[in-house]
Amino acid sequence: MTAATTIAASSRRGSHTLGRTSEELREIVTNVGAELELAPAEIIIEWAVATFGTRFCVTSSMSDAVLSHLAAKVAPGIDVVFLDTGYHFAETIGTRDAVAHTLDINLINITPVQSVDEQDEQYGPKLYERNPDLCCKLRKVQPLTDGLAAYDAWATGLRRAETHNRVIAPVVGWDDKKQKVKVSPLAGWSDGEIDKYIQEQGILVNPLQYDGYPSIGCWPCTRRVAPGEDPRSGRWAGSNKTECGIHQ
Ligand code: SF4
Repeated sequence: MTAATTIAASSRRGSHTLGRTSEELREIVTNVGAELELAPAEIIIEWAVATFGTRFCVTSSMSDAVLSHLAAKVAPGIDVVFLDTGYHFAETIGTRDAVAHTLDINLINITPVQSVDEQDEQYGPKLYERNPDLCCKLRKVQPLTDGLAAYDAWATGLRRAETHNRVIAPVVGWDDKKQKVKVSPLAGWSDGEIDKYIQEQGILVNPLQYDGYPSIGCWPCTRRVAPGEDPRSGRWAGSNKTECGIHQ
């Protein structure tokens, strides 16, 4: 482990030197996107580290440590960003801490500007029940946007096998909302390939994965799913909401 840092999202603004322009970043995506589509995950991460240096980070939801493990092998000390919404299960926070202590990464814990209590005071309690889109905007979308301001490119653990909504996730794509390069080294990995890597490499996995939670988010908006159900059907169950907005 190298370090663990908790940072309110807004405080990271302007903390790094300026990177490439949006035009330059788009050009990189155009030039190499298709070329890396079938490359192994390690090669994709190697390319991103070589291209963007310290302006590249990995994000992790701490459902498992596959992507963090791959990144730490390729680039020891790499920034791994965790979005700490204030509504995580204790198991997720425990997994984050274990990952930070066992892998050679620089864990960056991004928090929303407001604590849960401050949000309750301004918007009323249980905003996630009354207006989950606003709650996600305040506790996920905006903090991550602010937290990624210091980077030109970010890696996600998105996999096309997870849900039909993610079918189009390219390995190297353009994130128009954030004006950054979005890298998904695991986009083409099947569930079986993930399981194999976890077994062979002894990867840390959030214990909730073995307790009926194949997709883990904030506790108020995540429920257990039955065997054979869509893994993401436990997220915002009973509503039309399927994504928090980070990947839209
Ligand atoms: S997942 Fe639920 S609790 Fe978490 S930020 Fe979104 S609405 Fe709020």
